Amino acid sequence: MNNTRGESVARQIRMDSLEKQLICPICLEMFTKPVVILPCQHNLCRKCANDIFQSSNPYLPTRGGTVASGGRFRCPSCRHEVVLDRHGVYGLQRNLLVENIIDMYKQEYIRPSPERKVDQPVCEVHEDEKINIYCLTCSVPTCSMCKVFGSHKDCEVAPLNSIYQTQKTELSDGIAMMVGNNDRIQGIISQLEETCRTIEVSHPVWGLLPPQSLA
Ligand SMILES: [Zn+2]
Ligand SMILES: [Zn+2]
Ligand SMILES: [Zn+2]
Ligand SMILES: [Zn+2]
Repeated sequence: MNNTRGESVARQIRMDSLEKQLICPICLEMFTKPVVILPCQHNLCRKCANDIFQSSNPYLPTRGGTVASGGRFRCPSCRHEVVLDRHGVYGLQRNLLVENIIDMYKQEYIRPSPERKVDQPVCEVHEDEKINIYCLTCSVPTCSMCKVFGSHKDCEVAPLNSIYQTQKTELSDGIAMMVGNNDRIQGIISQLEETCRTIEVSHPVWGLLPPQSLA
């Protein structure tokens, strides 16, 4: 390995670990602007924050994307509770530092260079053909030769990239929804626990009696 190559590998490693810091825990992509910073110092794409918030607070009346009366959700990274004002996620502070770092990173790093070209997988049957289409009928990625002459001749296919994007979006929307629902259920559990404590306080004897004596 010559020196230039060694330096570029070291640089690559540095950039990879920087990139990890810039990944949103919900969409699993590099943060999309605007990026908001939560009170716990964790960051989220504003869109992703809004997705979690919407599923944590399904009954809050909304008006043109903003809520009428505040609401809350939990940080997906540390579970810290985020209390919002009437502007909803639009009331959260943007993290301009992170946004600028992302801009710089993209300028610096995501430029077409032959060195970065990833090997695209090729078809097992047709070794010169790249896997670039998706068979909707069989739910597998495949190559165009398979579609034209091969085992997927009679199948319905679509470009692999567009299917990838659609499924990825569905998945990250699903993650946001689950995180939000989880918050909501945790909230209900705490309320129930609170109710139990109140009952124990107002009827201390019930708490001391063995269960069968209450029947
Ligand atoms: Zn995101
Ligand atoms: Zn957090
Ligand atoms: Zn093939
Ligand atoms: Zn097929």
